Amino acid sequence: MNSFKERFEQGILNSIERCSYDFYIVHPDKNYICTCTEHATKQPDKKCKKCLGTGYRIKIYTARGACNETMKGGAIMSTQTTSITRMYYIPYKYKLQEDDLIIDDNTIYYIFRLEKKKAIKGDITHYEVTATKRNGDHTIAINNFNNIINKYKKG
Ligand SMILES: [Zn+2]
Repeated sequence: MNSFKERFEQGILNSIERCSYDFYIVHPDKNYICTCTEHATKQPDKKCKKCLGTGYRIKIYTARGACNETMKGGAIMSTQTTSITRMYYIPYKYKLQEDDLIIDDNTIYYIFRLEKKKAIKGDITHYEVTATKRNGDHTIAINNFNNIINKYKKG
């Protein structure tokens, strides 16, 4: 017989799947510094078409998960900053890392906290991701991102 905890956790996983939708993950590979980064200041070019202003070579892939705006119907405001914070619930099969970006509906979010959640039988089932919306205007970065994706789809 399943324990209450197991049933409860299975319920969470079911909710995640019910509310899941597709978005993109951008992973900056810190072994490869982008050519746009200035030697003196170590500042990347925010308009860079290759790294999207991350300063590193990037890998892009699609992922599927839920976020609190879909599950609870509202963004929460962080008390420490004025930026919008979102919780994402993403299955563990995706290999996420802190500092990855989530590109969701033409908006850039930074992953700043990644918790691995265990559910049934002690296996990690999903991540609980805290992500904040990138501050300021990121129209250029989004345009560059869409150009990369479109090239990819055609190629
Ligand atoms: Zn660059």
